[in-house]
Amino acid sequence: MKNNVFISESKIGKGVFANKSFNPGEQIFKLKGKKFRWEDPIHYTDFGANLIQTGYKTYIMPDAPGVYLNHSCNPNAGIYKNRKLVALEKIKIGEEITFDYSTTMQENFWTLDCMCNEIKCRKKIQDFRQLPKEVQSKYLLLNIVQGFIAAGYKKVNLLHGKFERNS
Ligand SMILES: [Zn+2]
Repeated sequence: MKNNVFISESKIGKGVFANKSFNPGEQIFKLKGKKFRWEDPIHYTDFGANLIQTGYKTYIMPDAPGVYLNHSCNPNAGIYKNRKLVALEKIKIGEEITFDYSTTMQENFWTLDCMCNEIKCRKKIQDFRQLPKEVQSKYLLLNIVQGFIAAGYKKVNLLHGKFERNS
């Protein structure tokens, strides 16, 4: 079977690209990798930036191709059920696949200047709690926020897509 994706150079280093077209909601691949905990010294190495948070104190270091996924403030993919990378829109062959790193971040630890160049770029990649409310709501409605983060937010008015933090 042909691989769903391939690794190539993107505008900010290596990235993951579509090797076939994907429809909205279609799974692209599942993230797999070695587990790490909050206390692991890897967080203080350059490598630590590649960790994906899966719980309050737990992370995985994704195996390729996942480790090459770049961030975008206007992503065409998202992580469903903590591990499944799914297309959010129609993705064409050769297009770079990105997700919003903030959908997996709630740690008060790591931020990064964003270079995605999207019109709505937030300029900084930071925790989910720091996203604008409308962006949080959009991601929560799409079900692409890691479970441990989404659990802290409740649906108050699904009709209007509004969410409020549990207090
Ligand atoms: Zn950006």
